[in-house]
Amino acid sequence: MLIFKGRVIDGSGTEPIEKGAVVVDGEKIVCVCRQNELQEYPGAEVIEIDNGTILPGLIDLHVHMGVGKTFTMSPHEATVRALPKLKAMLDSGYTAIRECGGIGVYIRSAQEEGLFDSPRINSAGQGVFQTGGHGDALNGLYVPANIQKNLFATWGLCADGEGEVRQQCRYTLSQGADFVKIATSSGVNSKCKTVDKVEFSEAEVRAAVEEAAHFGTYVSSHAVSNGGIKLAARCGVRTIEHATFLDEEAAELIAKADAYVIPTFALAKVQYDMRDKLDPLVGKKIAIAYEAHVRTFELAFRYNLKIGAGTDFFPGPDNSMELELLVELGMSPMAAIQAATKTGAEVLMRDDIGTLASGKLADLIVVDGNPLDDIRILRNPQRIRLVLQGGKIKKHLTA
Ligand SMILES: [Zn+2]
Repeated sequence: MLIFKGRVIDGSGTEPIEKGAVVVDGEKIVCVCRQNELQEYPGAEVIEIDNGTILPGLIDLHVHMGVGKTFTMSPHEATVRALPKLKAMLDSGYTAIRECGGIGVYIRSAQEEGLFDSPRINSAGQGVFQTGGHGDALNGLYVPANIQKNLFATWGLCADGEGEVRQQCRYTLSQGADFVKIATSSGVNSKCKTVDKVEFSEAEVRAAVEEAAHFGTYVSSHAVSNGGIKLAARCGVRTIEHATFLDEEAAELIAKADAYVIPTFALAKVQYDMRDKLDPLVGKKIAIAYEAHVRTFELAFRYNLKIGAGTDFFPGPDNSMELELLVELGMSPMAAIQAATKTGAEVLMRDDIGTLASGKLADLIVVDGNPLDDIRILRNPQRIRLVLQGGKIKKHLTA
């Protein structure tokens, strides 16, 4: 049994408890209270935290493993390459991730058995995309018609027409996908000249939503263009990724659908900062998209949309950059923390993680200082003093 004593931010958005305590027994939290309300726990190990804060483990709602330049890498190699990155991410305070397309489904059960150190993995497996769309790994390349394109894609399958969409959704869900990832728009890096392309038809999106529902889950859509955002929101997509070209009408549709927005501003910022080094057309699209993306936040706040924290990064030590950016764009530090904890767990459809409360799994972190005063401390692995996952100490800096 472990007792953590210090400032507690429970992830629910309520005021911190300055002299708080969290009691962990085995894999679960058994008590969160003020220190003066703490009952006796004979034999418990007490971890006193001076000028530190106890928080729920963080959740990144949008990562990828085995993609990027490695579109066609085998899942085996992608796994080997992902392992040290997953460990670094856990060490930086992330105890769960949602992979929006990639190899996670194939390594999730090994993670659950504790065979390697990693955030908990929730994964869409191979996403379902239209031919020539955002997730078509061979878009624009010469591919003889008799070659099966889907043999090449570790993170996405091509599907055209309602029937193929249903088939590929069923396939990826039967492989163990936790949800279905689609794209209803192109991306800034896609092979097309503009940023307003819409992908998939309404019938195709509705088919994906229905198939996901039959498996007890939902659809997440990469939606950059305004038309793509609206198409997703209209057809019952539950999580809108990026939402770059949001406008009032789209914000209203998302609010009405009670969908989540995962802006992934971190990748937008990284790409914006390096736009001059990229292909001029891509650089131009990135600059246009970035300006629109900043306005997305004003609208999202005005319409009180549910915002989750995700980066669109590989797993790694730097994913808390998103929380810094959310604060820079006008969120309170408490709301940003909530986006990466309570809201994160909601998106994952898990009620056993995301907040610190009796009965939840003991996924918690101890940070040096107060992230409400300076959110940037969450991005400094040296200040992530302790990481507990399911009651097991995964990192503990004592010096
Ligand atoms: Zn992504």
